[in-house]
Amino acid sequence: MRAEGADSSLKPVACSLMRCPFCGHPDTQVAETRLSEDGTTVRRRRRCTACDKRFTTYETAEIRLPAVVKQDGERQDFSRDKLREGFRRALHKRPVSTELVDEAIDRVVQKLLALGEREVTSRYIGELVMAELKRLDKVAYIRFASVYKSFQDVDDFRDAIRDVEKSGSE
Ligand SMILES: [Zn+2]
Repeated sequence: MRAEGADSSLKPVACSLMRCPFCGHPDTQVAETRLSEDGTTVRRRRRCTACDKRFTTYETAEIRLPAVVKQDGERQDFSRDKLREGFRRALHKRPVSTELVDEAIDRVVQKLLALGEREVTSRYIGELVMAELKRLDKVAYIRFASVYKSFQDVDDFRDAIRDVEKSGSE
């Protein structure tokens, strides 16, 4: 059983408050509403009640991944590769299949998408990673948690693990 976490977090939109792009009148009427064939876009034909001009609006769900806010306040684009790298380092020499790691990464990404936020802290992502590692491999979880908890940032954690790997026994 897999927690899907992909429930849509669409917020209700006040459709009638669309301002007319021609005369700026605050009230336009929706003359027609149509759903696109694949069901991902709502198209509305609108008519301005003041100047009678018509225009079309499109409504789609935003499914962009949130930007990552690091501990020092710096913002970065979310990177699936970086996430994978974090897993890979924590799971170094552990008997966990790539397939299971991919599934864990998918779950983290789904949870981030389901948030519907524009930004998320790297600390929060670290917590999602920790929850997945706990299920995958106890040793990797402890490895990640012990280092990560003192850094609270995935990037710092990666650097720390890299150092541990360099100096640690094989
Ligand atoms: Zn108008």
